[in-house]
Amino acid sequence: MPAAGARVVVPVGPRTLTGVVLREAAAADTSYTIKPIKHVVDDHAFVPPDVVKLTEWVSEYYLAGPGATLAAALPPHGLTARTDRFKTIRIASLTAAGIDMAERLSAHSGEAAEGPKLGKRQAEALHLLKGSPDGLPVPALTERGITSAALTKLTSLGLVAIRNDRVDRDPFEHAVSQSKPEHARDATGEQRHALGALLPLVASRSFHVALLHGVTGSGKTEIYIRLADTVRKSGRGVLMLVPEIALTPQVAALFRARFGTAVAIQHSGLSDGERHDQWHRIRRGDVDVVIGTRSAVFAPLANPGLIIVDEEHDTSYKQDETPRYHGRDVAIMRGKFAGALVVLGSATPTIESYTNALEGKYTLVSLNKRVLDRPLANVSVVSMREEIAEAGDDVVLSRALVEAMRLRLERGEQSLILLNRRGFATAVICRQCSATLECPNCSITLTIHKHGSNWYGRCHYCNFLKPVPKVCEKCAAPYMERIGFGTERVEAEVRKVFPSARVARVDRDTVRRKGSLVQTLAKVSRKEIDVLIGTQMIAKGHDFPDVTLVGVISADVGLGLADFRSNERTFQLLTQVAGRAGRGELKGEAIIQSLLPKHYAITLACTQDYRQFYDTEIKYRRSMRYPPQVAMVNIIVRGRTFEDAMKAARELASEARNETGFAMLGPAPAPLTKLRGEHRAQFFLKGKNRKIMREALQLAMSRKPSLSKRVSIDVDPLSML
Ligand code: ADP
Ligand code: ZN
Repeated sequence: MPAAGARVVVPVGPRTLTGVVLREAAAADTSYTIKPIKHVVDDHAFVPPDVVKLTEWVSEYYLAGPGATLAAALPPHGLTARTDRFKTIRIASLTAAGIDMAERLSAHSGEAAEGPKLGKRQAEALHLLKGSPDGLPVPALTERGITSAALTKLTSLGLVAIRNDRVDRDPFEHAVSQSKPEHARDATGEQRHALGALLPLVASRSFHVALLHGVTGSGKTEIYIRLADTVRKSGRGVLMLVPEIALTPQVAALFRARFGTAVAIQHSGLSDGERHDQWHRIRRGDVDVVIGTRSAVFAPLANPGLIIVDEEHDTSYKQDETPRYHGRDVAIMRGKFAGALVVLGSATPTIESYTNALEGKYTLVSLNKRVLDRPLANVSVVSMREEIAEAGDDVVLSRALVEAMRLRLERGEQSLILLNRRGFATAVICRQCSATLECPNCSITLTIHKHGSNWYGRCHYCNFLKPVPKVCEKCAAPYMERIGFGTERVEAEVRKVFPSARVARVDRDTVRRKGSLVQTLAKVSRKEIDVLIGTQMIAKGHDFPDVTLVGVISADVGLGLADFRSNERTFQLLTQVAGRAGRGELKGEAIIQSLLPKHYAITLACTQDYRQFYDTEIKYRRSMRYPPQVAMVNIIVRGRTFEDAMKAARELASEARNETGFAMLGPAPAPLTKLRGEHRAQFFLKGKNRKIMREALQLAMSRKPSLSKRVSIDVDPLSML
């Protein structure tokens, strides 16, 4: 029997495929013919056994196929067993140019024994290379006193080949050189206190979850680094998940600065080949700190002793395709299997995590103040109803915000302006018949974007694009009017009011070009930008010390959505973005414009009172029986017509309804009734016991196998659409 996690080549129907061994089946299912394995690729686990176990848990918990889940844990092309005998080594060469040429060294790891007589260093180099299935970075050889002359000799003997290859510059190496040198500094009193609670949990070498609730600017990163240092020294690995590395390169850069090449950073700029190399470096044990986004939770890191989930509230931890796992929750399971400390960090923890902390499942560790007694930003609300009454209903920037921005420009300080809506206008509407421009594939109106002097409508779900017509498509009246506004309009307004300001915008439209996001953020940190405008991307954990003003254009954008988490999202977004102001020595201010200035998500974000918000929100969740009071499963059924989708949803729902132990809502049309040309019906299960709900759905699906391709099941959904 090959090891769990080993790759094997097996016959499947008429085909031959490479697979990964999960475990030996307990008893043969007689409805299948069991064929023998053709070929065992690995004589030991390729995917580490604890990662295999983790993927099995994910596939069971989220009702996803084991293949799809295992694929998330494999390196790119992980199932193409490599037959080449040339191992490639990349030489790290990082200079200021965007893309460098770097030498690639390939060592032939074969018949050196019968080869020519080698010098001691040369033999050692070859021995080291042969001992590392995927080679070694060149610095690892030179550190051991192996000279480049020795490598040249090996090359000339044909045992090592060097060739040139393109290497993308590592943006995090760059970020380090730009940040001011971090001198070893003393932890603040609160940081010491937090470490006093966390270090014993690390030392216990057993499973624990701690929620590190620290206000914005309280110095959570320093705590992560000190914990990581201790864990590394005890010989265990560190895994850190972050929402999106390009948005917060500082955190990764600080780890790089502290731990050097022992850190693997899995950022989106890596090519498949680089990812593949990195996976093997981690698997081999050359790396003991891994930083990455959600999928890094499956990194083949041996013996993790510390797993950090930074900004645990961030919704990007949830994968919105199969397997629909939540990176934070998988991280907790990984910690459980490994006997590790899992630290969830946030200034605005999810209601779920905070509840677990209050119930004693997690240890709550709080940082209530910013470092060095820096005050939190002073937040004020501008009622846009009053502003509109004075200045007309097309006002974008309130007078108070314009004045505050003017002051920052005069003083040479920076401003961030947030509007969580892309585009120039929200829609166009015909003033005669009220028709709007609709997406032909989705039940959604097109958002209006401006390119040069041309206007386009774009679907934010399927990317459908068309020019805005001069006359209405329904009634031919020439009165198409733009309504609502997004970040493009804010940018135009800011440029109009402050023509000499250096302005940049960050949203999904501006960051399509690879690297542009990292570049813009680097410009902000070099103070080459006065005003940065953007969507929620600019609210994430940035640390720009000279930002002293944060403006929020329409704080209520998310509040109207048919989603029970919309209050929580609004509170998180406002608290986080206000937390970007005044992080350095200068005091910060935030101005929030809103049509609903009395809403508790807004007033409590102003006072940055997390506890008050939690207490208000949990009451609402309990009374409405929403998570964490109950667990939910969202089932979407697709069809060619709406009737088709509803009929199939009813069939599946009635099968599931035979089981008891949960409530069912629906079936009903999904809020996004049509998406990418498919019609969608939806129902929810709500109950205390996920296992009962999972089993009911599995049973229902097994009775309706023909529906399997049309049904998406989302356990613990974050989106209700
Ligand atoms: P958070 O992630 O909690 O919002 P950061 O970790 O980004 O906060 O820290 C906020 C700022 O405080 C950073 O600029 C950081 O360099 C600084 N800082 C953190 N710890 C200390 C310390 N012990 N002494 C001085 N400055 C610190
Ligand atoms: Zn569409």
